[in-house]
Amino acid sequence: MPISGELFIGPERVLSTDQFQAIDASSRQPLAGEFAVATNEHVARACILADQAFEPYRTADLETRALFLEACAANIEKLGEELLSRAAAETGLARGRLETERGRTMSQLKLFAQVVRQGDWLGLRVDHAQVDRKPFPRSDLRQRRIPLGPVVVFGASNFPLAFSAGGGDVASALAAGCPVVVKAHPAHPGTSELVAGAIVDAARELALPPGVYSHLSGPGNELGAALVAHPSIQAVGFTGSRHGGLALIALAAQRQIPIPVYAEMSSVNPVVVLPAALKARGDVLAAAFVASLTLGTGQFCTNPGLVVLIDSPEADRFSGAAIAALAATPGTCMLTPGIHAAFERGVARLCSTPAVSQIGRGRHDANRTAVGALFSVAAADFLKTGGLGDEVFGPSSLIVRCSGESELMSVLRKLEGQLTATLHLDQPDYALAKSLLPILERKAGRILVNGWPTGVEVAPAMVHGGPYPATSDARTTSVGTLAIDRFLRPVCYQDVPAALLPTELREDSTLRYQRMVDGTYRAS
Ligand code: NAP
Repeated sequence: MPISGELFIGPERVLSTDQFQAIDASSRQPLAGEFAVATNEHVARACILADQAFEPYRTADLETRALFLEACAANIEKLGEELLSRAAAETGLARGRLETERGRTMSQLKLFAQVVRQGDWLGLRVDHAQVDRKPFPRSDLRQRRIPLGPVVVFGASNFPLAFSAGGGDVASALAAGCPVVVKAHPAHPGTSELVAGAIVDAARELALPPGVYSHLSGPGNELGAALVAHPSIQAVGFTGSRHGGLALIALAAQRQIPIPVYAEMSSVNPVVVLPAALKARGDVLAAAFVASLTLGTGQFCTNPGLVVLIDSPEADRFSGAAIAALAATPGTCMLTPGIHAAFERGVARLCSTPAVSQIGRGRHDANRTAVGALFSVAAADFLKTGGLGDEVFGPSSLIVRCSGESELMSVLRKLEGQLTATLHLDQPDYALAKSLLPILERKAGRILVNGWPTGVEVAPAMVHGGPYPATSDARTTSVGTLAIDRFLRPVCYQDVPAALLPTELREDSTLRYQRMVDGTYRAS
């Protein structure tokens, strides 16, 4: 079905009197077609429908839920060329990157189908009654986790596929048993609509309740604010700016019944190159650093925005090699004019900070492109100047030069919460690395050695989270199978007769989910 610009309120395609246009990210010209701006009435209809779908969706058998996620993946793949070319036009992202992102989108939907079938997320626990316990007998206690209810997911500008209408937050919420209402990112409404159509079709194929998935679009804060405020909504998934995330958290907290907002916001992803590694392969590391910095015009939440070195001739060589590599890297277009303007403001702020030197720029070949920027600052100045650890979203990074190990530790201690922290090291660096790890554990959700933070594997052990401002809740992750936990809560059943218990908690259950029985894990 071609792009129509309509909203999806469940399976129903709906037009609106107000419309907006998509913009071609490279030419900044409007793309053909107009998109409906959702009103408060649309918000109410989608949220109430999601609420009505909650009970039948959460109680449908888990095999149906898993098949639904797999059908979403299959239908997204069937969109083929139309999806890729629309996403390329709306975002300016390279074709190869979008193909990879589509693969990741499908694989995370399929991974969550496996998670649903495996059932570990149910968190089953049984503590048998102890009728002879003195001085009082103990009751029979059984626990499982149930979904929270309808979830609003904000599409991310920088992941039009993997973190938008059918992305990670949608997959994990649907896997948990929560209906989803998507707030499409206004930077890629056509891409979002195509994916939404694929998911609505999958819901229809599996005969799921109509409100299991809705998709609303419209520029401006009102739509997102109305969705977060709607009483049917029980949780929010968000990737975007710190400003936007904090605004949504405040709105959620002001509701009559506050709800959790899982916001992934801002991170500079420090990379520490330790002395032996710097000496052994500084040039190679500098080139790899610039490749990571400029990948996708630096529009990754895991972009390496801060490099920390101990001053030495090798540190000079690293900086020189990075400057040369960056000078040879042409600027590329950003996702939106607004994001580009924010990048230029961030670069200008660093340029005008007295203690900071601009040491490198990328190649300026064409207008409307963002050219990489490299800065340097002495650690002593970094430590006494506010704001130098703030994210500049795009290909900008700051090299912090430390006088020694003690100053290096002070710099790391000063950092805000991060999604990632990276150490480049060789064997002689192990002792120093060992003293840095406890600092980094307290700062970041993921610690890498001899790698680059861009590129996040979707796997059971992955953590894409971290202390504020990386995210609003450091106990969770938005990538990897643990992401399902955000949309679940535990319920304990005390002395509930077997006939009334959920099947998976009964003594005679034939379901083979892992459960903890009297304190010990076993398959049921
Ligand atoms: P954004 O401005 O935070 O917007 C993200 C989504 O949240 C949009 O759908 C937006 O809706 C909505 N929103 C934002 N503020 C809101 C509010 N006060 N009330 C209700 N809804 C609100 O992020 P963006 O558009 O993707 O990019 C802007 C900046 O965010 C970038 O320059 C960058 O600094 C940062 N960013 C960071 C990351 C990261 O991973 N760290 C990723 C993407 C962006 P409307 O636009 O329709 O109002």
